[in-house]
Amino acid sequence: MKKKRVLTPEQIEHRRKYNRERQRRLYAENREAILEKRRERKQSKEYAREYWRKNRKRLLEKRRKHRREHPEYYHARDTAMAAVTKAITDGKLKRSSKCEECGRKMCVEAHHYKGYAKEHRLDVQWLCKSCHRIADAKEGYSK
Ligand SMILES: [Zn+2]
Repeated sequence: MKKKRVLTPEQIEHRRKYNRERQRRLYAENREAILEKRRERKQSKEYAREYWRKNRKRLLEKRRKHRREHPEYYHARDTAMAAVTKAITDGKLKRSSKCEECGRKMCVEAHHYKGYAKEHRLDVQWLCKSCHRIADAKEGYSK
């Protein structure tokens, strides 16, 4: 068994300094790999779920605030969404069975790529949830 050594304050300080420098050097050497790992982790579903769980209250409040501050935007969006639902019920519009962007066969959403103006309410592109989010972000509709 290793005998426990009692360190002098100077030795402790020296060790701390050594460890700090070692950490810094390791980080500098592996910076890209560390950052890449962090990016990967942040894109995972588990991370998103955990983030939502931890920040639920704040995120919901943020969403409500955005709704309060942009009533005309949400009104236009809700109206456009209702128009699409009605057009599908009436048989004027047909929901695609796959995403028009990535081609995956899955549940798709109507993307109003021309905006929510009255004349463009039925101008939709059928996109999966993730392609829809990307398209909205590109066009600058932040939620
Ligand atoms: Zn897609």
